[in-house]
Amino acid sequence: MSKIAIIGAGFSGLSAAAYLSAAGHEVHVFEKNAETGGRARQLQTGNGYVFDMGPSWYWMPGVFEKFFNDFDLTVAEMYKLTLLDPSFDIVFGENDTMHIPADFSNLCDLFESLETGSSSNLKKFLEEAKYKYKTGIENLVYKPGLSIAEFADIDLVKGAFRLQVFSSFSKHVRKYFSHPKLIALMEFPVLFLGAMPEDTPALYSLMNYAGLKLGTWYPEGGFGAVVNAMTKLAQSNGAIIHLNAVVERIEVKNNMVEGIIVNGTRFECDAVIAAADYHHVEKELLQLKDRNYTEDYWEKKTLAPSCLIFFIGVNKKIDLLNHHSLFFDEDIALHSKEIYKDPQWPSKPLFYVCCSSKSDPVAAPPGHENLFVLMPIAPGLNDNEEIRLKYFGIMMDRLQKQTGEDLLSHVDYKKSYCINDFIADYNSYKGNAYGLANTLKQTALLKPKIRNKKVRNLFYAGQFTVPGPGVPPSIISGKVAAGQLMKYLKKVHEVVV
Ligand SMILES: Cc1cc2nc3c(=O)[nH]c(=O)nc-3n(C[C@H](O)[C@H](O)[C@H](O)COP(=O)(O)OP(=O)(O)OC[C@H]3O[C@@H](n4cnc5c(N)ncnc54)[C@H](O)[C@@H]3O)c2cc1C
Repeated sequence: MSKIAIIGAGFSGLSAAAYLSAAGHEVHVFEKNAETGGRARQLQTGNGYVFDMGPSWYWMPGVFEKFFNDFDLTVAEMYKLTLLDPSFDIVFGENDTMHIPADFSNLCDLFESLETGSSSNLKKFLEEAKYKYKTGIENLVYKPGLSIAEFADIDLVKGAFRLQVFSSFSKHVRKYFSHPKLIALMEFPVLFLGAMPEDTPALYSLMNYAGLKLGTWYPEGGFGAVVNAMTKLAQSNGAIIHLNAVVERIEVKNNMVEGIIVNGTRFECDAVIAAADYHHVEKELLQLKDRNYTEDYWEKKTLAPSCLIFFIGVNKKIDLLNHHSLFFDEDIALHSKEIYKDPQWPSKPLFYVCCSSKSDPVAAPPGHENLFVLMPIAPGLNDNEEIRLKYFGIMMDRLQKQTGEDLLSHVDYKKSYCINDFIADYNSYKGNAYGLANTLKQTALLKPKIRNKKVRNLFYAGQFTVPGPGVPPSIISGKVAAGQLMKYLKKVHEVVV
């Protein structure tokens, strides 16, 4: 049995803790904040609102199921899932909202109503995306991305062409659809979670399969319920979680971690999984000689967006609003350019509204709604109160017009969250929200490595390493990092014996 320290109690850290403690190791998780969950923490207000502070789209339910199955449990035993219908809405303008139905034949009807022949193209598109999902999510993402040999599996080589790792997502979508609304629907998942569709491999149409075929789900109690389930699981396996525990340094001697400094006190351990932001771990916790990458390396990386968020409570019900609404009533290309190509505060922003009180009575007091309003922005922008307020006005104005409701005079809770908060709360690099973008040059083997090349017993997990950003990939990342660490420990043990 080894004594293992995990830095960070986000999804990746909790996942690694669950696997390592189940295998009998003494696991200590150190989390700087007062609660577990990392970017998926919840905000409970004094006047009865509950907000998920980060993720709100529960996609790829199979990944969560597989995680709990690994411990002889099921999702149904841990929390209740509900299929949302409509899955989500896209607002294209006043009185112009597209409701995306959960039922596939209704979705085909919707496509056909906009573009003749598009429903059969949708079937073909999703058939191909299904192959990518099955190969990608059920196989590729569980690989550590350390060597090309991992990808030498004959089926994968044969399928590489079909996976479309090297062609652009944007071109791929336009081969099947020409109606701008359908293109917007297909492109939004890669746009919000990663990069310009033209820089994203067509491989990521697997996200469309996840979103349109596997459904958009809601865990009762919000993502906080998933965090609680994973925290309890890790603890019941024996992991010890230390909250308000800031890791200040990783002590390395002769290419081996010997301990970490937590709140000024030394904690000895046999190995470390660093599940905090990769750049923070390298730059703030390790000496220069022990780092995997230089500052120059990080400067060249394409980060996923940051965002400006408002948590808003209103003391009235909003009839014309569903659980998830994407406001695509401005030029998508312009906003994308202002995130990725020419970083600046958006001139005409798109935004997203989550109103989980539509599906969950505990999210707001009776007769009230909780609004989570998110505008994606480039990481590293200058963030201040004045800018935040300007966008609050812009987004609330459009939300009021769309819903036909006076909301501003009904606000009884309001809090903003942006780049400076991501940095202060999570040691986030440039205030990023979702880690590293899924571009062609940052996929699989080309992601920051899950293992330190110089320090033998130091591994990394989380949205900066394989397989990438999002809750399901972070959970997988914890599993892969734990697996690599156990492989290393086994080898060391064999040498000693
Ligand atoms: C606003 C927002 C919306 C999102 N929406 C979705 C969505 O709808 N669906 C989806 O699937 N994904 C979504 N994501 C992405 C998803 O939430 C993340 O990819 C995932 O939660 C990242 O988990 P992680 O473990 O890698 O990192 P984190 O959650 O950041 O965990 C890292 C932890 O390390 C801690 N830490 C940092 N430094 C130290 C230190 N020195 N000592 C101790 N602890 C430290 C941090 O406090 C944090 O708790 C969203 C993210 C955000 C921010």
